[in-house]
Amino acid sequence: MKKNFKDNLQDVEKLLTSHEKNVLPHFINGQSTLSQSGLTFDNYSPIDNKKIGAIASGDKKDIDIACEAAFQAFGEWRNTSGKIRKKLLHKVADGIEKYARDIALIESYDSGQAIRYMSKAAIRGAANFRFFADMAPSASDGKSLPADEHLNYSLRQPIGPVGVITPWNTPFMLSTWKIAPALASGCTVVHKPAEWSPYTALMLAEIAHDAGLPDGVLNCVQGLGETAGRALTENKHIKAIAFVGESSTGSQIMKQGADTLKRFHFELGGKNPVIVFDDADLDKALDAVIFMIFSLNGERCTSSSRLLIQESIKEEFIDKLCDRISNLKVGHPLDHETEIGPLIHQKHLDKVLDYFSSATAEGARIAMGGKIFNEGGSGNYVEPTLFVDVKNEMRVAQEEIFGPVLSAISFDDEADALKIANDSIYGLAAYLWTNDVGRSLRLSHQLDAGMIWVNSENNRHLPSPFGGMKSSGIGRDGGDYSFDFYMETKNICTAFGTHTIPKLGKK
Ligand code: NAD
Repeated sequence: MKKNFKDNLQDVEKLLTSHEKNVLPHFINGQSTLSQSGLTFDNYSPIDNKKIGAIASGDKKDIDIACEAAFQAFGEWRNTSGKIRKKLLHKVADGIEKYARDIALIESYDSGQAIRYMSKAAIRGAANFRFFADMAPSASDGKSLPADEHLNYSLRQPIGPVGVITPWNTPFMLSTWKIAPALASGCTVVHKPAEWSPYTALMLAEIAHDAGLPDGVLNCVQGLGETAGRALTENKHIKAIAFVGESSTGSQIMKQGADTLKRFHFELGGKNPVIVFDDADLDKALDAVIFMIFSLNGERCTSSSRLLIQESIKEEFIDKLCDRISNLKVGHPLDHETEIGPLIHQKHLDKVLDYFSSATAEGARIAMGGKIFNEGGSGNYVEPTLFVDVKNEMRVAQEEIFGPVLSAISFDDEADALKIANDSIYGLAAYLWTNDVGRSLRLSHQLDAGMIWVNSENNRHLPSPFGGMKSSGIGRDGGDYSFDFYMETKNICTAFGTHTIPKLGKK
C-alpha cells in the first residue's frame, strides 16, 4: 500500500481521468449511465481547488429509474438464500481489498483526508462487508415465544428497497456501514453519495457488480441533496432511509419522507466532550485528546471537540497540548507524513474560519492556530487550533465546527463536568479519562450520549451499537441493531388446537 508521495499523485491523476468524457456517471441497474437531463456539476479538489472533473447530476428522473430497478431486483434478492448473499458479499470484500489502494488514493484526493487514515478506511470498508456477510444467513432469525395454547415465533424479513444518503467526511467507509447490512438483510439499495466527494461511491457499485451482485441490487445516483437526495426520500418504492449527515438535514429529510411513511435511521452531528480528571493517566489522555480532534481533519462526527479539563491540571495539560499541536504536520493528503490535510471545500473552510472570529469576539482566547495555514497558498488548509478560556455557552462550545479545532473548558468537580457535558443539543459520544472506577461508572450512566469511551479514544467494535441521542441521531448501527432497521419483524401465532374460540352468533 505504501508508495511515495509522487507515485501516489501520478496514480491518482490517472485514476481520476479514466471515465468516458471525463464525467463521473451513475451506476443504475448494472450499468454506468449519465443523467437523463445530460446535466453535470463540477467537483473540486480540496488540495488546490482545481476542478477534478464533472459529475453526472442526478435528479428525480434518474432517481426514479434507480428506485424502479431496486424495486424490481428486490423480488429476487429478498429470496436469495442467506448463504448465497454471504458468499457474494465476501466477494465484494475481496474486490474492495483488491482496489484498496486506488480507493484510498481517490478518497484522499477527493476529500482532503490524509492517506494515513484513508488507507485504513478502505480496508475497514472490506471488513464491514465481511462482518455483515457472515451474519446474512442468520439475519432473519427471530424468537420462539410459546404461550399456553399457541406458539408464537418471530422472524425478520427485509423491509424493501432502501435509500442510503451519505456525507463527505469518510465517504467510502461510511457508505459500507450502511450498504453492507442492507444487502446482507436482503434489501436492495439506491445510494446517493455526497456531492463534494462522489468518486469512491461509483467504485463500490462497480466492485459489487463485478463481484456478481445482480443488476439493480446496488445502485448509485450522483447528485445534489436538494434534487437527487430529496427525490430519493420521496420515492414510493423506498421503504427506509439510512442517512448520515447534519442534524438540520436529517430534520428536513424526515419531513420529505413523511408522505410515504418512511422509516429513518439518522446518524447526525456531534459536539462531543472529552472529560479529563486529575487522577487520569494524563499522557494517554493527551494522546487521545489530540487524536480525536486532529485526526481526519477534525471532520469526524465522533471528534472530541470540547475538552473539559479539571481546573487543578488545566495549565499543565494545556501547555503539553500546545506543544504537541505545534508539531502536527499539515500538508498534502497523499503524503504519508501528513497528519492534517485540507478541508473538504472552500465553503467549509469559510465556515471554520468564521468560528475563529466569533470565538474571540465572545471572549475565548486562541492558544494555538486560528488562521489559514500557508496564507496566500492554494487549498483549504487551516492551522490546527486550540481555544482556551471557553465558556460552554459560546458558539465554539455549542456548534459543530467539523474542523481541526478544539475548545477547552475548565471544570471544578464531577458534578460540574457532568453539567457542562450534558449542556448541549447533541448526544453522540463522550470520552472519560479517570482512574476512579466508581466515577467512570457514575458518569457513564448519567452522560447524555449514545456512546461512552472510558480511558480510550473512539474504538469501533462492529457488533456494538453505534449512534447518538438528542440531535445526534435516531437508531443504532452495528451487528443485530442494523438488521432491526433494515428488516421487518413478523410474528406468527399458531394454535395447538386446544383453546376455545368465542362463538358469536351461535344459538
Ligand atoms: P449534509 O447533511 O450537508 O449532507 C449529507 C448528505 O445529505 C449529502 O449526500 C447531501 O447531498 C444530502 N442532502 C442534503 N440535503 C438533502 C435533502 N434535502 N434531502 C436528501 N438529501 C440531502 O452533511 P455533510 O456536510 O455532508 O456531512 C457532515 C455532517 O455529517 C456533520 O454534521 C457530521 O457530524 C455528520 N456525520 C455524522 C456521523 C454519525 O455517525 N453521527 C458520521 C459522519 C458524519
